[in-house]
Amino acid sequence: MVCPRCGFDTKVFDSRPVKNGKRTRRRRICLSSSCRYRFTTVEEIRYSVRSATGYSQPFSEKKLFRSRSARQGSIDQECLDNLLQLIVTDLFSREVETTVSHLVERVIFRLRQDSMAWALRYAALHLDSSDERRYVERIEIIASSA
Ligand SMILES: [Zn+2]
Repeated sequence: MVCPRCGFDTKVFDSRPVKNGKRTRRRRICLSSSCRYRFTTVEEIRYSVRSATGYSQPFSEKKLFRSRSARQGSIDQECLDNLLQLIVTDLFSREVETTVSHLVERVIFRLRQDSMAWALRYAALHLDSSDERRYVERIEIIASSA
């Protein structure tokens, strides 16, 4: 990695695991004798989510529950935290990338174990409704599998 200040090459002089090894924090120093700038970099796994149109973006816990249902407090925070942990563990156990539809399915599946109302609310907000018949079918399947 080059120096953010002068663009010269840098070296790592300290490296340590953080967050139970899920992240690596490195201290770097610029090799230019006139600069010697010191900075920190963080290395971590980048989980990503691919949309139906093939667009890939970083997985974001915030985005996952930015919906109205979460904001209105209908799904409690402790439940959300547990859910996120489970989802990340399950979804990314084999690959670091998943699809939006798979992600939504997993959230619904997990929510349903706690509350059918939450699951249906989440489904209504997040399932793709462009194909109405398929959408209604999905909601029916979720509701009938209690
Ligand atoms: Zn420099």
